[in-house]
Amino acid sequence: MEATTFVLFGATGDLAKRKIYPALYNLFIDQKLPQSFSVFGLGRREVSDEAFRASVEHSLRTFSRREVSDQEQLNSFLSGFRYSVLDVGHKEDYKKLLGMIEQREKELDLAPNRMFYLSVGPEFFETIATNIKESGLGATSGWKRLMIEKPFGHDLQSARDLNEHLSKTFEENEVFRIDHYLGKPMVQKLEVLQQSNPVLQALWSNRYIANVQITANETVGVEERAGYYDKVGAVRDMFQNHMLQLLMMLAIHLPKNSTSKDVRFKKKMVMESLEPLEKEHVQSHVVRGQYDAGSIQGKPVVGYTSEPSIPQSSMNDTFIAARLQIDDVFWRDVPFYIRTGKRLKEKSTRIVIEFKEPLKQQTKVNDDTRVPNLLVFEISPNEGISLQLNTRDPQHKGEFKPIQIDFHSIRSDVPEAYENLIHDALHGDPTFFAHWDEVELSWKWVQPILNAFQENAVPLHHYSAGSYGPAESDALLARDGYHWWFDS
Ligand code: NAD
Repeated sequence: MEATTFVLFGATGDLAKRKIYPALYNLFIDQKLPQSFSVFGLGRREVSDEAFRASVEHSLRTFSRREVSDQEQLNSFLSGFRYSVLDVGHKEDYKKLLGMIEQREKELDLAPNRMFYLSVGPEFFETIATNIKESGLGATSGWKRLMIEKPFGHDLQSARDLNEHLSKTFEENEVFRIDHYLGKPMVQKLEVLQQSNPVLQALWSNRYIANVQITANETVGVEERAGYYDKVGAVRDMFQNHMLQLLMMLAIHLPKNSTSKDVRFKKKMVMESLEPLEKEHVQSHVVRGQYDAGSIQGKPVVGYTSEPSIPQSSMNDTFIAARLQIDDVFWRDVPFYIRTGKRLKEKSTRIVIEFKEPLKQQTKVNDDTRVPNLLVFEISPNEGISLQLNTRDPQHKGEFKPIQIDFHSIRSDVPEAYENLIHDALHGDPTFFAHWDEVELSWKWVQPILNAFQENAVPLHHYSAGSYGPAESDALLARDGYHWWFDS
């Protein structure tokens, strides 16, 4: 892999500590980092290189999925880390950084390939991009790339503005927009599973599939992010990005030996085929919810509006469920149900594919005991695939008994999403990053929902913390004769 300088804005932040350093360390152990790899951590505070390395080490010991046991290996990893003071608004700090990077590139005879990782608040994205350009940091004879965290915009217009701004410094093929759900190993497997298994390929359409259910439930509340979350809600925080990405990854039909270009083209096609939602139809297709007090795993928790820093009058959505339709030859008439929220009963992200039962009317045996075939992709916290089939119950002849064929990965063997993403970006592989077209189409689809929520044109349904969301979310499926699977 080509020599790289990894320039990390927000090096003292929470994301860097919990995700980025552990990901780099595990890539290092797996020998998946370039031989010549240099990290420049940036932050506002004055910190020595030694203190910076000590804080990186602490984060590895706290958050790495693999135990840090080999001190020599650790020292070798940390030796590539440097720290530089940089306030995003101070142009002279960028000049100083450029000098340090050039010096190191020269010392080690490194190719001047530069990865800029923005692990800072979105209010800084534009300023940083401008300063990378104006300081000369971006003018390198090697490659330059930008990894950028969510949120990419607050609505359609702000996303367009941000993209236009970034494009003054970085070409589209240099921008790696992180949606960490795309880094999750099971999400990355969806493409392969469908492509390399004729059994699944044959079933992947409205001929056999009755509906698709995509769920991302969290048990946590707003935690320390109250100020941010109250402005974004579940629709912006989860739905517009992660949930629509899961929908795209599930719904694409790929040619054999497909390239990253094919994947992105097909994902775009899915988004273009999503039936648009007019504002007046938001109420019948979308459920907006907010949690009340309740209990999570036996512990009492307060309602959303009693959380610190949340106004009593807040109408923010902590839950959203929606019914979507993809109007193409594969998916016409197959409802896709999506739901996500906070303070729900269990933490789990999964996709359930419910198959049709065309033979149901024809069988003579007691049909009440028969269940639909289900194919389930468990995405997190555990990773697995299961298939539910009907067999005969040997105890009660004439009745069916569902069985599950199950596969589950061992957790410590599964790479973290950030490992996959950083690895791919270092290789210049954009397959599992959000292309601008996808981001724009997602905001476009979601915009009527944002407008309807903003104008309070749809009711806000309350649900108890520790439940599966408001009753209206169940009603959304019941109208079509379905129910959410695995709510128990
Ligand atoms: P954080 O507040 O913990 O860290 C922010 C970093 O930005 C700190 O290192 C801080 O020193 C730096 N910073 C702030 N102002 C600065 C300035 N003027 N000049 C230079 N540096 C400055 O935030 P975080 O949780 O690490 O999140 C970083 C980004 O990642 C955010 O955009 C967030 O939305 C996104 N994100 C975070 C998570 C997460 O799990 N924490 C998940 C997804 C996305």
